[in-house]
Amino acid sequence: TVKSWIEISRAALATNFAAIREVVGADVEVLPVVKADAYGHGAAGVAAALVEAGSQWLGVTDTEEGLQVRETVGAATQLLAMVGMEAEDADTIVMANLTPCIWTAAHVQWLEEAATAQQGDVRVHLEVETGMARQGAAPGEELREVLQALQQAKHVVLDGVMTHLSESEVRDSAITRAQLERFDAALTQVHEHALQPRWIHLGNSSSIDEASTLAWIQQRAASLRAASFHARAMVRPGYATYGHCLPLSGNGEAHLAAKLTPALTWKTRIIGLRTIEAGRTVGYGSTFVAQAPMQLALLPVGYSDGFRRAASSGLGNGWVMIHGQRANVVGRVSMNLLVVDVTAIANASIGDEVTLLGEGVTAEDHAIWANTIGYEILCGIKARAILK
Ligand code: PLP
Repeated sequence: TVKSWIEISRAALATNFAAIREVVGADVEVLPVVKADAYGHGAAGVAAALVEAGSQWLGVTDTEEGLQVRETVGAATQLLAMVGMEAEDADTIVMANLTPCIWTAAHVQWLEEAATAQQGDVRVHLEVETGMARQGAAPGEELREVLQALQQAKHVVLDGVMTHLSESEVRDSAITRAQLERFDAALTQVHEHALQPRWIHLGNSSSIDEASTLAWIQQRAASLRAASFHARAMVRPGYATYGHCLPLSGNGEAHLAAKLTPALTWKTRIIGLRTIEAGRTVGYGSTFVAQAPMQLALLPVGYSDGFRRAASSGLGNGWVMIHGQRANVVGRVSMNLLVVDVTAIANASIGDEVTLLGEGVTAEDHAIWANTIGYEILCGIKARAILK
C-alpha cells in the first residue's frame, strides 16, 4: 500500500514558469532547475511538464539524472548537468548529449577525448568562481588555463559562461555586486580569448525576485544582444519553479514571489483512531502526557519519509491538515508513524485524506519546525509523485 504520496500540479508548474518568464522579460531565457529529483517533486514528471510548458532548457544534477531526464524529454531539450563533473562522466555526457558545467582544463581534456572517440561534439558551460568557493574557475590565471584548453579543443564547444550568487536573497548586497563585477571581468577574459559563448547566465529564484540583481541581468541581456558575439542571457530558477521564494531581506519590492503557486501537496491517510484518557502518554520518551481525554489519529508517515522529527510536539510543534482543520502532532515523530490530535475534528475517520504539506501547511512551516529552509524539506520528502 502507498503510505504517502505527493501530488504535483502541472498547472502550477506552467504558471510559475510563465510568471518567471514574464518577470525577466523576453530578452532573458529561463532554465528551470530540476536537479535533486526536481527538489523532491520527481524529475521525470516535472521535466515533461516544463517542456510541455515551453521550456527549451532544464538543469539536472549530473549524468545519472541527465540520462533519466533525457529519456523523458527527447533530444531537443538542452540539459545542463550542473554538479560535480568527473572523468568517468565524459562518455555518458557525449552519448546523451548533455551540457556539463565545467571549470578546469582537465574537464575539457576528458570531454575532448570522449568526443573524439565518439566522433561527436560536446557543448559545455564554463562556471566562474565569483564568491561561493565551490565549483568554478576564478578570473585570472585559473580561468586562463581553462580558456586555453577550450581554444585548443576541437570537439568541445563553449556554449555558455555562468556563475552563482551566494546571497541573492539579500537586497542591494555589496557581496552580490562584487560577484557581478568578478563575473564581468571573467566575461572580458573569455572575450579576449576570442571564444564566443551563446549563453551568459547567473541568477537563481531570489535573484529574479530582487530588484537590483534583476536589473543587472536585464541590462546585460540588452547589451549582450547588441554585442558582436550575440550571446543571450539566461537565469536558473529552481525554488520559484516549484512555487516558492525565500523572503528577501530589507525593504522594497519583490518581483516574483507573489506570482507563484506551490506545485506540491504531500498527502497520506488516517490508518487508526484511538481515544486516550487524561494522564496517558504518547510515543517515544513519553514526552507527551494527555491533560484531558483526547482522540488521536495514526498516520503511516515518519521521519524516514522526510516528515522531520523536529516537528514533534514540545520541539517544533508541527501540524497537519484534516478536513481543512489543523491537527497538531502529538509526541515524538517516529520513523514510520506519526500521531496527531483530532479531538476537535469530530468527523475524522479511518481512510480520510490528510495533508502533510500543501494547503494550510507550507514548506516554510515545516522549515521553521526543523530550523532549516524549505528547500531541504522539499528535497527530503520520500514519496511517490503523481502528476495532476
Ligand atoms: N543554479 C545553481 C548553480 C544552483 O546550485 C541552484 C540551486 O542550488 C540554482 C541555480 C537554483 O537555485 P534556486 O532554487 O534558489 O532558484
